[in-house]
Amino acid sequence: MTTTFETLAGHLAEVGRHCYERGWALGTSGNFSAVLRKDPLTLAITTSGVDKGLLEASDIVAIDAQGRVVQGSGTPSAETTLHLAIVRSRGAGAVLHTHSVWSTILSEATGDGSLTIEGLEMLKGLTGVGTHAHREKLPIVENTQDWIAAAPRIEAILREHPEAHGFLIRGHGLYTWGKDLAEAKRQIEILEFLFEVMGRKRGIAWQQ
Ligand SMILES: [Zn+2]
Repeated sequence: MTTTFETLAGHLAEVGRHCYERGWALGTSGNFSAVLRKDPLTLAITTSGVDKGLLEASDIVAIDAQGRVVQGSGTPSAETTLHLAIVRSRGAGAVLHTHSVWSTILSEATGDGSLTIEGLEMLKGLTGVGTHAHREKLPIVENTQDWIAAAPRIEAILREHPEAHGFLIRGHGLYTWGKDLAEAKRQIEILEFLFEVMGRKRGIAWQQ
């Protein structure tokens, strides 16, 4: 059964409101997308400037592989190029981007271009991970206001880290994805949990 644009837009809006409610995408921050059709590529994505706590299906547009709106009305998110790059390079069916407190803090906690998480049971919630001994290395990319120019750099980083379940943008937030919206939502919940654990542990260490 093929999903209609309206149904997918409804599911995306629900996931977006969930992220807002958890404090991961406050105000108009964050953006969310899901593949409607693979051929030709059609992506349902949030429009810019919408309060994520009030996100409705009508705030979602469908775009083609060039980012042009083909269904619905509004301006696609300013980070649309990144969503398209992740869909292309990872074969993702959904891409979620949050601006949480912990992802922002941890993205600035290391200067070496990546954040490593290991030894925690919740790592098993990530797709394909079967043990707490897993070592998750998330690349950290520098922030910019020109994602069209930065897209090739992001695609190169994704190619260099084929095992990564997401990446951080410094001082900005998290991108993760999944084969479908349900998997992407699970990944964001797991990663946000892991970030909070790491952030709180570091906080305790700082006080000592
Ligand atoms: Zn953002």
